[in-house]
Amino acid sequence: MNYKITIKEGKEKQLLRHHPWVFSGAIKSIEPKFDIASWADVYTEKGVFIAKGWYDEKSHIVLHLLSWNEKENVGLSFVKKLVRDAIMRRKDFFTRSATTNAFRLIHGEADFLPGFAVDAYASTIRIILSSRFAMAFLQTVVEEIDNLLHPSLIVVSTDPQYASVEGMSERVRYFIGDEEKKIAEDKIEPVTILENGIYYEIPGTKGQKSGFYLDQRENRIIAEEYAKGRKCLDICSYTGGFTLHLLKGGAESVKAIDSSESALRHLLYQVHLNEEKGTIDKDSRSKVEILSGDCFELIRNEEKNKYDLIVLDPPKLAKTKGNLENAMKAYKDLNRIAMEKIKDGGIIITFSCSGALSREDFRTVLSWSAKDANVECQILRTLGQAQDHPIRLSFPESEYLKGYVLRISK
Ligand code: SAH
Repeated sequence: MNYKITIKEGKEKQLLRHHPWVFSGAIKSIEPKFDIASWADVYTEKGVFIAKGWYDEKSHIVLHLLSWNEKENVGLSFVKKLVRDAIMRRKDFFTRSATTNAFRLIHGEADFLPGFAVDAYASTIRIILSSRFAMAFLQTVVEEIDNLLHPSLIVVSTDPQYASVEGMSERVRYFIGDEEKKIAEDKIEPVTILENGIYYEIPGTKGQKSGFYLDQRENRIIAEEYAKGRKCLDICSYTGGFTLHLLKGGAESVKAIDSSESALRHLLYQVHLNEEKGTIDKDSRSKVEILSGDCFELIRNEEKNKYDLIVLDPPKLAKTKGNLENAMKAYKDLNRIAMEKIKDGGIIITFSCSGALSREDFRTVLSWSAKDANVECQILRTLGQAQDHPIRLSFPESEYLKGYVLRISK
């Protein structure tokens, strides 16, 4: 059946520029009416073809546009081709496996596959689903990944932020080959990965995100460049992605703060692991201190003008545009306090991973912090998400990680 969806006059502009999301309010008509999820051809009110998309009225984004080519033969083999193309775009990563063997294979809409975050961790794959489209095409995507990469295990989970709005189960699923298997969670072995020559152990199925923050890979190398001989503070350290690089770069000391005690214990384990492997100095453990609790509280207790380098990588404080104002205040406070704790001439590497906070707004927030802390602040570098997490120009929502290397003068 060929379904035809017409977009209301005025709502088609972004879509013609390849923005992939259509909300129900933008739809004028659907012919013939249907209540199953299906492919559909999408037109303007004037009858001009826009794109081919996947319509599912149960999704909070009822229509995902996938191809702007009228002749595209959409279906399972088209989805497999999208998977293949995304993986082939990462081919350089596969040749770097001696130093880095963990990276994102599919970055959702930015790789033209709505709601699929797919990460490779050595020979295993983690998939996080955040749309009904992704749920509907999971088996197809698993088949193509298996066909191309033959991973030892594929672990599939659902992004908790979208599970209820999309009506998706949060059950973790496992695939060996392209077949789903029942495996007890505690039977899933941790995976040791390499990122820029540093070892990390990714927990079985627990842990945050898909187990590790791959999007910070390139920024960790930059942090390493500033570390030599410096007294460092790694705020919201998780399992020590930055801490390990600071140690590798020759930091005098690193204090890691996180609200998750288990993440901090894992950080110490990873310091030990890398000492053993010889990737960091043998005496590194003695330079590390951990502190668990709320960073907003704990950082206040730190001595003023003490640190030479502070990394500030808080969780997504603006979950939606709705709480943007409060989130901006929180970012402002955290950065202001960091500016007080840093020495004259010290470096702050600060991030926001809130998609709802634009780069411009983040800079505005930092300027408020600098004013309140009474410091001068120079941007030395502008940072973003690693290149395996591309930003699709027609889909600004795909830019979420923003960061700056700041030099603070007092
Ligand atoms: N820098 C890390 C990733 C940080 S993710 C890396 O490179 O891997 C954000 C971290 O903030 C998580 O580990 C989370 O446990 C922690 N977190 C969340 N809220 C916090 C709070 N109020 N205080 C301290 N840590 C917090």
